[in-house]
Amino acid sequence: MSTGTVERPCGSPQVAIVDGFWAERLRINREHTIPHGLEQLRKHGTLDNLRLAAGADGQYQALTDSSGATFPFLDSDIYKWLEAVGWEAGRSGSALRTELTAAADEMIDVIRAAQRPDGYVNSYVQVVNGGEPYRDLAWGHEFYCVGHLIQAAIAWHRALGDDRLLDIAVRAADEVDGEFGASGRDGIDGHPGIEMALVELTRATGDQRYVTLAARMLDLRGKGLLGAGRFGAEYWQDHKPVREAPTVAGHAVRQLYLDCGAVDVAVELGDDDLLASVRRRWADLMRTRTYLTGGMGSRHRDEAFGDPYELPPDQAYAETCAAIASVMLAWRLLLATGEAEYADAIERAMYNAVLPGVSLEGTRFFYVNPLQRRTHRAEAPPGHGERAAWYACACCPPNLMRLFSSWPQYLATSDESGVQLHQYASAEIIAEAVRLRVRTNYPWHGRVTVQIVDTPDDEWTLSLRVPGWCGLATVEDPDGSSTVGAGRVDRRRRWQAGDTVTLTLDMPVRVTEPDPRVDAVRGCVAVERGPLVYCVESVDVPETLELEDLRWDPARRPEETARPDIGDDVIGVSVPVVGTGTVGAIPYFTWANRRTAGMRVWVPC
Ligand SMILES: [Zn+2]
Repeated sequence: MSTGTVERPCGSPQVAIVDGFWAERLRINREHTIPHGLEQLRKHGTLDNLRLAAGADGQYQALTDSSGATFPFLDSDIYKWLEAVGWEAGRSGSALRTELTAAADEMIDVIRAAQRPDGYVNSYVQVVNGGEPYRDLAWGHEFYCVGHLIQAAIAWHRALGDDRLLDIAVRAADEVDGEFGASGRDGIDGHPGIEMALVELTRATGDQRYVTLAARMLDLRGKGLLGAGRFGAEYWQDHKPVREAPTVAGHAVRQLYLDCGAVDVAVELGDDDLLASVRRRWADLMRTRTYLTGGMGSRHRDEAFGDPYELPPDQAYAETCAAIASVMLAWRLLLATGEAEYADAIERAMYNAVLPGVSLEGTRFFYVNPLQRRTHRAEAPPGHGERAAWYACACCPPNLMRLFSSWPQYLATSDESGVQLHQYASAEIIAEAVRLRVRTNYPWHGRVTVQIVDTPDDEWTLSLRVPGWCGLATVEDPDGSSTVGAGRVDRRRRWQAGDTVTLTLDMPVRVTEPDPRVDAVRGCVAVERGPLVYCVESVDVPETLELEDLRWDPARRPEETARPDIGDDVIGVSVPVVGTGTVGAIPYFTWANRRTAGMRVWVPC
């Protein structure tokens, strides 16, 4: 790893989630979501398109959106699915259905066959667009697809030691480097993403050319290479040099992927100015343009961040991919700085902006994630408030698959001082000579028990994150009990096998008021408990009332309730409303799982 990284991730094989909330979500991903993804990729001809590039006969297949556009980036859905299978196969081994690994083998063969002798591979360009690459860097997503190919290759390399995809990815990256590297022409992609992948490729291969190419692509941004397009240069972050842009701008996923690459390059090259620019943008984004759920992106028209405090709940875009990208970016910032607030952001986004993107049974998805759906409404775009099995632009579902498959990697890090736990789940964690057994019923209850199973003789530090939402936490360790505040709690000692540290996070129901500058929800409140944001769904509103009639009764307190109808262990909240007693609120991530319904996170007072 690089010298610039403060903490280093424990690899996937060293963190095993064994029980509880996340074990169940990961099981659903493995047993339902990933197989469903394969079914959909087959049904929609996504792999067949690469077969055509390899020389097969047939028609290019693509769902079209309302404008009739054929998307040029569908190969990336194959790559994301392969990435998910790579992480999953590395961790669960034989628990993964053999038809999935067989399908993955088949895909790898098809990609290899589609790849031209010069290393170029892109089914859209090869089949639909005459075979001449790089005619439309602004909209063509060619580097972007190579980026996802590389990420899939990294997963197979790291999780399985299987380098079939890595060989293909290296040839593809070399082709890009030959055309656009130090001695080539200037070119950047309208959709960032390749930058972080190139850095990973350097880490996997030791070849510095790739990180150099990534740095070059970052430096070329903000020079007008992409033009204004339909939405202006901000849309693809070509309006200002990366290190100068003071705030996030334009298309949310593009900005967040770009900043992921910027952190990776900054860490590899020791570029503190570049890192500082990302941290500055992130801090502003958290303060002014992030929904309570952690969702990002207020505008449908160009999938963009809005202005500061432009956070309408009903018109929220909050693309699932933007939430995923925010987790990826916050993770990189956490590794680069060690600061707990980045892990807080990961937690908020995972529970309240990523998880809502997939149904509880794992096979229906949200592309956009509004915080309010009206009971009576005009026609809305497909997927706005109703889950779909797949999308014409299917970026979100396989992106969810790969994030869940790699989620155990986000739980813990280690460095010279010891081991840091950032996210809580029942897990077995191995960090060199340290082995930890974590047990918890998080996110429903705030007690986390960490048992030292194996330890070196020397002293080392166990660090635990106390989330920013937590007003009162206690830590019990072999020396006794103490009260701690939000942030990072360090316990350094000569540990003995069998020692136990128990973190207890007080988790009362919280009533949250919005920033008054968010006009759309002024005068409303929302309910949170622990890391979870809650919502009221019209299914739970008495027949005599409509969701829109509800008024919060400030004279009474909300209370916890069991919600076995939503799921085992699920804790709901009974919300006091004027005139009618209470209505039940459910965790936001569980909404839209019963029937099509109205929903709101913010309730007027
Ligand atoms: Zn998406």
